[in-house]
Amino acid sequence: MQYQNGHHIVYPILFKEQYGSLSSINCFLYNNGSTLTLIDAGLSTPEFNEFFQQQLKQYKLSIQDIDQIFLTHHHDDHTGQVNQILSQKQVQVYAHHLAIPRLLFEEQYLTNKYNFFVKIYGEYGCLDISADRFKKMEKTFLNRENLKLNTEVIPLHHGDIINEMYIIEAPGHSPDSIIFSEQPVRWQFSGDLLLENAPTNALIDFDEKLELLPTVSQYRESLLKLNALEAEWIFPGHEKIFQNHNLEIDNKLKKMDRKEQRIIDAVRNGNNKTVEIARAIYGKKVETQTFFVLSEVIGYLEYAIGRGKLAKEMRDGEWFFQPVYP
Ligand SMILES: [Zn+2]
Repeated sequence: MQYQNGHHIVYPILFKEQYGSLSSINCFLYNNGSTLTLIDAGLSTPEFNEFFQQQLKQYKLSIQDIDQIFLTHHHDDHTGQVNQILSQKQVQVYAHHLAIPRLLFEEQYLTNKYNFFVKIYGEYGCLDISADRFKKMEKTFLNRENLKLNTEVIPLHHGDIINEMYIIEAPGHSPDSIIFSEQPVRWQFSGDLLLENAPTNALIDFDEKLELLPTVSQYRESLLKLNALEAEWIFPGHEKIFQNHNLEIDNKLKKMDRKEQRIIDAVRNGNNKTVEIARAIYGKKVETQTFFVLSEVIGYLEYAIGRGKLAKEMRDGEWFFQPVYP
């Protein structure tokens, strides 16, 4: 089904697949009346590629019709078909300026990332349970020539406007997350910032100084930004296209408050180390979904500290957490 408002048309490509706890991977062809933009580019799997070709055909479109590609963020479920498309047509690819070293798998960036995780996981006492993460990063480094986008990427900055599309920074899920906001029709292409009835999280990441980013508070601010926008439709990175984003954001903010409270309670119950706190809340998931669990726990610990509800202290190189009672 396509979405139309005057000469604006969205052709959704919703690939149904169980992907972690999500049930679809989305990208969108968007015609503003003069330009056909692909917003996000799915997975790189043959199954996704086949579905993508099929959908183009169904919409009576082809790769040759695509004029440009916009990426909401650098994650590989949003960039998978870019190289495939570029091998058939040279189009310009746009993404947030912070996405560029990530999309190009630059050596310096990958080295910084590895060193950042050694430092952070060391300080939070979770190096032992994260061995797989480091193996994965080593593999990525060796495979970087195959993974990178085969093109220059044009950097986008907050406040840029391309045609009538506003670029709104919305960090939290990743530091390079963008809302592409088509103001005249109030259509918001918001990547993984807000999904309907489905989880999406703030993931650990770092800034230029290799410092841990305050991802949870960034996420909250980005949700408030989206909340302030009018939206006829939200075109998200996963799950269904939806309306009533204010209600969905309200639920999400309440859920974040509950997560914060759960972290505070775990510390009040006598868990002082990151891994203890993680196990108290997530049980076995600490082993099976280590990166996601640690992103949540470290993210919310820092969030609660920022709001004056917890305190931390370094002992023998590791953070210990204490409740702060009002
Ligand atoms: Zn995604």
